[in-house]
Amino acid sequence: MLFDTHAHLDFKTFKDDFDSVLQRAKDNGVTHITSIGIDLQTSKNAVAIAEQHENIWATVGLHPCDLEDFSEENFAEQEEMLSHPKVVAVGEIGLDYYHKLNYSNEFQIDIFRKYLRLAKKHSMPVVIHKRNSDEDTYRVLKEENVGKGILHCFDGDTKLALDFIELGFHISFPGIVTFKNSKLFEVAKELPLEKMLVETDSPFLAPHPNRGKRNEPSFVRLTAEKIAEVKGISLEEFATQTTQNAKNVFGIS
Ligand SMILES: [Zn+2]
Ligand SMILES: [Zn+2]
Repeated sequence: MLFDTHAHLDFKTFKDDFDSVLQRAKDNGVTHITSIGIDLQTSKNAVAIAEQHENIWATVGLHPCDLEDFSEENFAEQEEMLSHPKVVAVGEIGLDYYHKLNYSNEFQIDIFRKYLRLAKKHSMPVVIHKRNSDEDTYRVLKEENVGKGILHCFDGDTKLALDFIELGFHISFPGIVTFKNSKLFEVAKELPLEKMLVETDSPFLAPHPNRGKRNEPSFVRLTAEKIAEVKGISLEEFATQTTQNAKNVFGIS
């Protein structure tokens, strides 16, 4: 069993062969997938997909690169969606200082806080996106006293990962860990297994040897194999524990 904790299954690229994508996931032992919302519409799409598939769950959020979609109306509608039985987290939300955006970092922080408070109000975990924003992301999470969730697509160093773990977060590893020029496997080697998760971030960031191609949930196996290898444990042990971790975070029984 494997849990792909972060996939964008509603993206157009999956439209034509969605059933075979899910079949290949199943054939590779991927038993659970969380489909991630990045704005109001994609959150709705994720929920619709989760409704149709027993082994898929959804998140509702607003990506820091999509804040033009923010409005009080959309926010209120997203809050209502949180009571849906297949919605398991608020996300992705966060801070992205890498992309050039039409609004300030301060605005990003304001909206980030708003969604963090929403998650707390509903006792839900958060899925955090951060890029070039380690310090502010850590500071805001700490100030808002948010201690349950996932640092998605983690690509920082061991010290940073341990800091977030201390706040109560789980660290989700993407396919980057398999890239020949990446040192991310060293972080994976150091971290406690019970704080680790794996993800694809499909359709982005396909792991080696599929780098550059469209990513899909079945490829999470390649990421898991690599980390199991560097930790010196079996794929089965790694998969069982990280799937249990994800179920704990998302509150799936
Ligand atoms: Zn992201
Ligand atoms: Zn994402």
